[in-house]
Amino acid sequence: MRRKLVVGNWKMNGSKASNAALLSGISAGVTGAQAACAVCAPAPYLAQCEAALAGGALAWGAQDVSAHAGGAYTGEVSAAMLADFACSYVIVGHSERRAYHAETSELVAQKAVAALVAGLTPIVCVGETLAEREAGQTAAVVSGQLGAVLALLGDADIARIVLAYEPVWAIGTGKTATPAMAQEVHAQLRAQLKQKNEVAAVTVQILYGGSMKPDNASELMAQPDIDGGLIGGAALKAADFLAIVNAAN
Ligand code: PGA
Repeated sequence: MRRKLVVGNWKMNGSKASNAALLSGISAGVTGAQAACAVCAPAPYLAQCEAALAGGALAWGAQDVSAHAGGAYTGEVSAAMLADFACSYVIVGHSERRAYHAETSELVAQKAVAALVAGLTPIVCVGETLAEREAGQTAAVVSGQLGAVLALLGDADIARIVLAYEPVWAIGTGKTATPAMAQEVHAQLRAQLKQKNEVAAVTVQILYGGSMKPDNASELMAQPDIDGGLIGGAALKAADFLAIVNAAN
């Protein structure tokens, strides 16, 4: 059985003071949780996460990483730097990066490789826009996005990633995919993994993201191929995030 995983994506929110309260609220509540859980904080706060969370049940990670190992790339943060702050995870290919920073699936794949080289688990995001869904292109879009990553990873590395299906139209909108809609895409992604690596297809966690909240989390995560959540808005309140972690138990 795959262990459930619940990851908070804080996006560009927080301050030292608000993070301190959120981290202590969440970490107090996750001890003994069956699901694995993590928060992905803005890069300047990773040191704060390490100081507050080291040795506990709540892991931490970043929201993006450079595809480059180091050198003259002003403004970028390398995977080795994230590892230096004991990050376990890094989100790559979030739809906001694809849309606002013109990230291609090829660049996302390079970022996933950079993360793996540094020993981090990349959380690879895929998802279609509303126009793509309405045009019947969902399957083609997400399989193209995943295919670019699978093309760059060695077969053994496929077992070391986490996938997240995040329909763009559901992110931050309050519109959630129905459990059946999400399950259909998750099953398709798992079948695509299976073509490359049968064992990885069984073990890789596929998270759902897009307006997952305490009141819809348990029915989404009850689907056979939904192994947890990537949580935006509801990750900014300890009580909401913990309710989702508990729904995953
Ligand atoms: P949301 O964001 O939960 O606020 O919809 C999810 C995400 O963007 O990862």
